[in-house]
Amino acid sequence: MHRLYIETVGCQMNVLDSELVVAALRQRGYELTEDPKQADTLLFNTCSVRENAEHKTYSSVGRFKYGKRKKPDLVIGVIGCMAQKDQERIFEKAPHVDLIVGTGQLAEIPDLVEKVRATRKKQVAVSLARKEGSWAEVAGSFESYDPLRDPTMRPSPWQAFVRIMFGCDKFCTYCVVPSTRGPEQSRSPREIAREVELLAAQGVREITLLGQTVNSYKYSEDGQQHRLSDLIARIHDTPGIDRIKFVTSFPKDMTTDLLEAIRDLPKCSRYLHVPLQHGCDEQLKRMKRGYTLADYREMMQRIHNILPGCAVSSDFIVGFCGETEEGFQKSIAAIREFRFKNSFIFKYSPRPGTKAYELFVDDVPEEVKRRRNNELLAVQNEISEEDNAEFIGRRVEVLVEGPSKRSRISSSDRSEPERDFASTLRDTDPSPVASLPGWHQGAELPSPDVAPEQAGPETLVSLDLGTRPSGMARSPSSPLLSTTGETSLSAMNSQTVHDGTPIQLMGRTLCDRIVVFQGTPRLAGTLAEIEVDDVTPTTLLGRMVTHRVEPRSHGLLPILTEHPGSA
Ligand code: SAM
Ligand code: SF4
Repeated sequence: MHRLYIETVGCQMNVLDSELVVAALRQRGYELTEDPKQADTLLFNTCSVRENAEHKTYSSVGRFKYGKRKKPDLVIGVIGCMAQKDQERIFEKAPHVDLIVGTGQLAEIPDLVEKVRATRKKQVAVSLARKEGSWAEVAGSFESYDPLRDPTMRPSPWQAFVRIMFGCDKFCTYCVVPSTRGPEQSRSPREIAREVELLAAQGVREITLLGQTVNSYKYSEDGQQHRLSDLIARIHDTPGIDRIKFVTSFPKDMTTDLLEAIRDLPKCSRYLHVPLQHGCDEQLKRMKRGYTLADYREMMQRIHNILPGCAVSSDFIVGFCGETEEGFQKSIAAIREFRFKNSFIFKYSPRPGTKAYELFVDDVPEEVKRRRNNELLAVQNEISEEDNAEFIGRRVEVLVEGPSKRSRISSSDRSEPERDFASTLRDTDPSPVASLPGWHQGAELPSPDVAPEQAGPETLVSLDLGTRPSGMARSPSSPLLSTTGETSLSAMNSQTVHDGTPIQLMGRTLCDRIVVFQGTPRLAGTLAEIEVDDVTPTTLLGRMVTHRVEPRSHGLLPILTEHPGSA
């Protein structure tokens, strides 16, 4: 019996990739372990978006240098974005690594691991670089293998990611994704619909469609061109599915037909993650985002006209090449104008291989980047808290995700792995987590560059804890090792879940607002009505009014608090 240990750093795409890699290895009889000492195969699924993430991976991999000397049969693999970007260079920095597998070859991992074991020869499998062939040749070198799923690797049993697109063709000047994930390719709506049905049959209630620019989705099938609006209409009535989300949207591709589809399809989340990146037209042009602030404003007006009350979140980069103080103030003004639900703020990190790296000087000093990062976050927090305050006294329906992070971390029998997990949250790339299942605390985390005191209370719990050298999450009862262990199946299965005592739970509204309240852990995976009593910039704090007992829920779900005015 082989034992696999896997660490995942990065975005939701990486989380899904790890789910698929684990499924493939499980089919070959591998068992997962959370203890690297027990493993004969160690995989590191990596992120290259910022330099920080790469340093973390090297330090993680470095921890196993001596272990490998003692146990030469160990197979160590670096997979995903960094593998595609750095390829053989990884062997120079970490000679004890055996295997390098890019994002387009993940399906080959089981064979490659066996090959290393049989021959003890290093293996490399990567896709063509963007300039190494025609679009079609390069696209063909990135393989897809999404339908293979391992339910136990999901952040939660009732929430799942479904990739609808690979790659990206936008080529924003700062970004490595078009190189590490290859050309933009949409998946067949028929395949996607089949995958959603399978997931629903496994008990999934909320799906999140994934794509780097998810609203650019298009696919010709059966003589028809399918857009994202057609796709969500097609999967909307899948029995068992209650909520549909999608991330990340690209401002220029936010078409009216899509907004109307969200309006007309009640299971669609009234939440959009549409990164603006900067409030200054000059900077947007340098970033090659393809829109101006006025274009973005027009899009926001359409969103609010068609979807009143829809929550919108953004990403921002501070300290990009040539950013002046005046330019930076325009990002502050944009946050005030658009009143984002939340924003993920990143200090610019120059990435070799990108246009910005070639063409522009990284001329904003680190301390200025840090100060701007904190200033922007402070403004966003102020706006988020004001907007959340509007919910005080209102009732919201939430899909209960499970114990809040605080419940799990503050439990007296907290184990070492849970502490590791908590500390990890600040190390993850929080950008894509805004609306995603399994990342609920991470959703409100500041970027790794942000001071802990600016985080919400839930976040502070994690930030107070010790650091772990890698971006890794663990939970005690499961071998799932990923930055998304937040609401992992294992967490749901942990002792707190079974003892029936009310604890602090968390869930999300249809507009993706995080809500915490007291309840029994058995409510996880069901819909509950919560009255909001108080708020923080990141969270609505409330109490359960009634709980809908549904045929799909496990056993009797109590009405915990009967609200006087409730019907
Ligand atoms: N496709 C998404 C979009 O266009 O909005 C974003 C994907 S990217 C993995 C997530 C976020 O990381 C971006 O929105 C951007 O804010 C940030 N990012 C990307 N490259 C960066 C860099 N070189 N330095 C700092 N932040 C970066
Ligand atoms: Fe990167 Fe997103 Fe731009 Fe694509 S659209 S290049 S993923 S920032």
